[in-house]
Amino acid sequence: MAERIYLASPHMSEEGYEQKYVQEAFDTNWIAPLGTNVNEFEKELATKVGIKSAAALSSGTAAIHLALKAAGVGEGDIVFCPTLTFSATANPIIYQNATPVFIDSNEETWNMDPTALEEAFNKYPEVKAVIVVHLYGLSADMDRIMEVCNKHKTIVIEDAAESLGGFYKGKQTGTFGDYGIYSFNGNKIITTSGGGMLISNNEEKIAKARFWATQSRDQAQHYQHSELGYNYRMSNVVAGIGRGQLKVLDKRVEKKKYIFEYYKKELSNLEGIEFMPVNEWDEPNYWLSSFTLSGLVRPNDIFEALERENIESRPIWKPMHIQPFFEKYDFVGFNVSEQLFENGVCLPSDTKMTDSDLCKIVKIIKGLWLQ
Ligand SMILES: *Cc1c(COP(=O)(O)O)cnc(C)c1O
Repeated sequence: MAERIYLASPHMSEEGYEQKYVQEAFDTNWIAPLGTNVNEFEKELATKVGIKSAAALSSGTAAIHLALKAAGVGEGDIVFCPTLTFSATANPIIYQNATPVFIDSNEETWNMDPTALEEAFNKYPEVKAVIVVHLYGLSADMDRIMEVCNKHKTIVIEDAAESLGGFYKGKQTGTFGDYGIYSFNGNKIITTSGGGMLISNNEEKIAKARFWATQSRDQAQHYQHSELGYNYRMSNVVAGIGRGQLKVLDKRVEKKKYIFEYYKKELSNLEGIEFMPVNEWDEPNYWLSSFTLSGLVRPNDIFEALERENIESRPIWKPMHIQPFFEKYDFVGFNVSEQLFENGVCLPSDTKMTDSDLCKIVKIIKGLWLQ
């Protein structure tokens, strides 16, 4: 059996940058807790995306949690959240004892539908914060979303876990809202094995997030706490991996784009295939190459045919409003996200794939149309 081809898996730099930074941490015995790598990773990422301040955390989920806390979201507050996303977007709303209201996608972006968002504002004018996601690296329609949110003076949190390195109208995704978050989980475009970053132009709020993330220790010798704390900080070893990975981010985006264009060129003529929408204002990071099917070949046919050759592929995220845990919460929209879930396919988008891997995948898929 050939070696497994993954949807997306860790890809360290060919130059060994990560090991160099990790070695530095070892050489100085500065494995933990904080240290140069953490501080520098925060600064380097902030510079890269064009934001004032960043806090390196243990995960993207932790970053969303602290963003909600910084936004003042607490018990009983309403938070709008896209329904088509990974559960980690919605879980922190529950951590804060707040109430999610799920918003449908639109076909033009696959992301939060600004019209459904308006409707949700009419229904819940008291909403405290809005979380926007850039699914698979495709940017949401930020001008329209920000216009609606600004009109209602609501705090915006951008979950850019999947879109680091992608741009909306020339500006990095994650930098439009009051807060943005990135993830360095193992399947993301760059990884630290696990980790996340909270970003904002509000330096005070980021400083506060660092305080919460280190157990809310007041300045005192005797371990004084006047607030609830968390153990959410990134370690100095992990941050070293992040610094090395950041150096190859552009290269990874380039390869992801190459993969998407390869699939599109080879497969877009097949009956019923429609590739994910890349709008004229969008420069995605192409984290996962995805499409929908409307013909005789169904997503399961593709999953099964690829799995037989030890190749991973997956459906599009199952919407939150039809998840057993979340179905009791309100949903505003139609059935766009459900349709995307039922008809969607995410293809292997691992940056370590060779042309011969891509050729093999394309051949297997094309074969399904010949039967
Ligand atoms: C991966 C992901 C997260 C969570 O990030 P972790 O670092 O794994 O906690 C949040 N939101 C979305 C959309 C993601 O894809």
